[in-house]
Amino acid sequence: MDMRRISIVIALACGVWLTAAVTTAAAAPCLVVTLTGAGGGPPNFGGLAGPGTLVRYGDDSDNCGAMRLQFDAGRATSIRLSQVGVSPGQLNAIFFTHMHSDHADGFADIMQLRWHFNPKGPKLDVVCSADAVSPVGFTISCSRLAAHIADAYLQSGEIAQRLSEDKSRPPGGPAELARVVAFEPKNEPQVVWSSGDVKVSAIRSAHMPGHASYRVDTPAGSVVIGGDAGNDAFAPPRASSTSEQVEKLAMGADVIVHSTIHPVMAPDKGSGMPPPFYFRQSTASDLGAMAKRAGAKHLMLTHLIPPIGAERQGPWKIPGGPLTEADYRKAAETGGFTGNIVVGTDLASVRLPAK
Ligand SMILES: [Zn+2]
Repeated sequence: MDMRRISIVIALACGVWLTAAVTTAAAAPCLVVTLTGAGGGPPNFGGLAGPGTLVRYGDDSDNCGAMRLQFDAGRATSIRLSQVGVSPGQLNAIFFTHMHSDHADGFADIMQLRWHFNPKGPKLDVVCSADAVSPVGFTISCSRLAAHIADAYLQSGEIAQRLSEDKSRPPGGPAELARVVAFEPKNEPQVVWSSGDVKVSAIRSAHMPGHASYRVDTPAGSVVIGGDAGNDAFAPPRASSTSEQVEKLAMGADVIVHSTIHPVMAPDKGSGMPPPFYFRQSTASDLGAMAKRAGAKHLMLTHLIPPIGAERQGPWKIPGGPLTEADYRKAAETGGFTGNIVVGTDLASVRLPAK
């Protein structure tokens, strides 16, 4: 090898090293938390999608998009996902906080789209509480929801018709593409799902049988998804409307995403909302106090009851008239939280680290 060739080899080697160094520097891990729906409860209002949160993790080179985890899937979840460029086939896992239909209405749509466009898999991990029997006798079952997710379309003949067009689709329909990962919710955090650098823990929380709250830990930061958690004591006297278990889960977390009720809906203020419905949610002011105690940097209030600007919450009136974004912000600040408050709207996002 002559000197000219040697210097070319050295130059190439340096080039490779430089490229590698630049790639390493640019590939800082990042996390994006996006509300796929900020609607709260079964009523529709103002085009808000049903409750759900998308957590994306990756690095700068993939726009934080290597992993996509969906928590709850209310109405129109797939539409909101499409607005951030995520297709149902790209979800790595879906987690359910509980089985109220407003948190699951969009699941059938997601599974149908996966069956339609990603028939060869992989199966979607559906992570949720094991069957929970209520004291009054009924059973809440995420695994049965998943197993029967497309029964209406099997019955209508639609699945058979689509199958005749593409025989690579699993013959049993969309349910065949769900892999349920059920866990028994406990009073201490337990890891229920992990992949690479990403770990998801769950804890038992109260709202309805089988309710669980989640925490995602990644090298870029952590986020807690409380769902509709409330205090185990369903009515006063109690120290807070928030869940002690969720607070334990949230200790040191960067972001808390939580369903919220405004204190104006309290039974003594004249909304007419039945006390049990009010008391099974966490108030914005108590969430502010919990976020402060947990040391969170961001509090994302979602599933707002009532929605901003609404004259009514379903059949119930809003004492003093429609609420504003500032009303929710003020309530959370009353609790003492001085970090970043996001009053939830569809597609509101927090990125870690901030850009
Ligand atoms: Zn809810």
